[in-house]
Amino acid sequence: MSITRDDTLNWLKACANTIAENRTYLIELDSPIGDADHGENMHRGFQAVVKKLPDFMDKDLGTIFKTVGMTLVSTVGGAGGPLYGTFFLQAGVKLAGKLEMNLEDWAVALEAAVSGVIARGKAEAGDKTMIDALLPAYHALRGAKEQASDIHQALLLSAAAAQQGMEATIPMVARKGRASYLGERSAGHQDPGATSSYLILKAAADCWA
Ligand code: ADP
Ligand code: MG
Repeated sequence: MSITRDDTLNWLKACANTIAENRTYLIELDSPIGDADHGENMHRGFQAVVKKLPDFMDKDLGTIFKTVGMTLVSTVGGAGGPLYGTFFLQAGVKLAGKLEMNLEDWAVALEAAVSGVIARGKAEAGDKTMIDALLPAYHALRGAKEQASDIHQALLLSAAAAQQGMEATIPMVARKGRASYLGERSAGHQDPGATSSYLILKAAADCWA
């Protein structure tokens, strides 16, 4: 089974929907440990992506992902804009010329996407950032693939790992981004970027599984 261009466009729509539904929630999470803009930033970015969807009907997945990345860079702002921009741009490099992807293609794209975010933001696991959701999601996808799980199972395991990673940010003390200015006081709050990353990967599992 593979993920087609239509599946990919449906996922982007689903990302925009889940970000819209969780806009206030993401703002609330970014209030105590940030500047209360993450929900608005991500909503603005994914609404801009939705406007681009008609242009994507005849494009390859690489072009689609790269255009999404550039759109997010130019609309999201804050720390999240360049980081999510990098996520999609790097995935797009690996998907160049493809009209559909199998589980291996998605694993390769996700690895490049997460590595790109790490290279750009210099965050490590445990720093209380989106990396704490993205990295476990990638490892779970790889693990599922090695056990020859089907794509459905692998995507569900990947999203579940992102959720666990997101929840694990609650007790963490932030070492990167705006939340790190609070030092120990950042503990006890769930990271907004880890939450938006989970929502995006959950949307993939819902759309593609
Ligand atoms: P800003 O912090 O500029 O207001 P946002 O509120 O849109 O930007 O995004 C904040 C999120 O960005 C954080 O919750 C965190 O997950 C993520 N983040 C911040 N800095 C980094 C970094 N260096 N590496 C990875 N993710 C980061
Ligand atoms: Mg913010």
